[in-house]
Amino acid sequence: MILTNIGTVKEILSRHGFSFSKGLGQNFIINPDICPKIAENGNAQPGYGIIEIGTGIGVLTAELAKRADKVCAVEIDSRLLPILDETLADFDNIKIFNEDVMKCDLHKLIREEFQGLRTAVCANLPYYITSPVIMLLLESRLPVDSITVMVQKEAAQRLCAKVGTRESGAITVAVNYYGTVRPVFSVSRGSFMPAPNVDSAVIRIDPAPEPRLDEENEKFFFKVVRSGFSQRRKTAANALSSQAGIPKEKVYAALRDVGLSENARLEQLDLQQLMDFSVRLREELI
Ligand code: SAM
Repeated sequence: MILTNIGTVKEILSRHGFSFSKGLGQNFIINPDICPKIAENGNAQPGYGIIEIGTGIGVLTAELAKRADKVCAVEIDSRLLPILDETLADFDNIKIFNEDVMKCDLHKLIREEFQGLRTAVCANLPYYITSPVIMLLLESRLPVDSITVMVQKEAAQRLCAKVGTRESGAITVAVNYYGTVRPVFSVSRGSFMPAPNVDSAVIRIDPAPEPRLDEENEKFFFKVVRSGFSQRRKTAANALSSQAGIPKEKVYAALRDVGLSENARLEQLDLQQLMDFSVRLREELI
């Protein structure tokens, strides 16, 4: 069954009485070039178990299952289950979990389903939870080699921006802290049914094998980043004193100690500077 054939897709959906849910970010891929490319760039290969988030009618799921040893896909919408029974009937290496990915125990899933396999995440993410899903995967330190996801173009630009530039945000700092991130390819809005109002892009995050900071310093680092980026036009001293109640003198001292100007804004610092500054500032406060 060719799941990028518009006639086929419409026929299956109408036979099952399925209507797209905007709220669940249901824009299904109908461009045949896209899913093979996501799979090939996303570690879908022998020796790998792949977690997919959001199956739709299974167009990406099938391409992943053709290449990897096993695919476990988490899909919240139970109306898609009978459709998937039909569209993925030829595969015996796919397991569907009818759950909300935000509530799913993915560590347990990996332990129980992917024994002896390396693991990766591949997905065309529902747009309304792009950042929460990415942060969940990274913060929970899911043991995966890569996270290859389609997101809205603007989100991709922000995620792949250089830390320390105007285009970057707190999420840019977070993904660069937890790993490395790079754009893979762009996707036009016409590649989906229904077509969304914006273009998309596929990005790949490779989580770092080891934490960059110990637990306490990491917690403090994110407190600093959140405060700094919620008032990004303010100097570090002003943002941290108003957002986190940290005395300005302590901020000045830490900035000086790591060779930065007292007027520095956190959004201007690169990742290493941000980490050095936050570790030093925490020492000032202990
Ligand atoms: N992979 C399919 C494709 O590319 O055609 C569908 C992608 S569509 C952008 C997003 C999918 O995620 C939909 O099937 C939607 O029902 C599902 N979804 C939305 N929210 C979810 C959640 N919280 N947990 C799991 N799946 C979710």
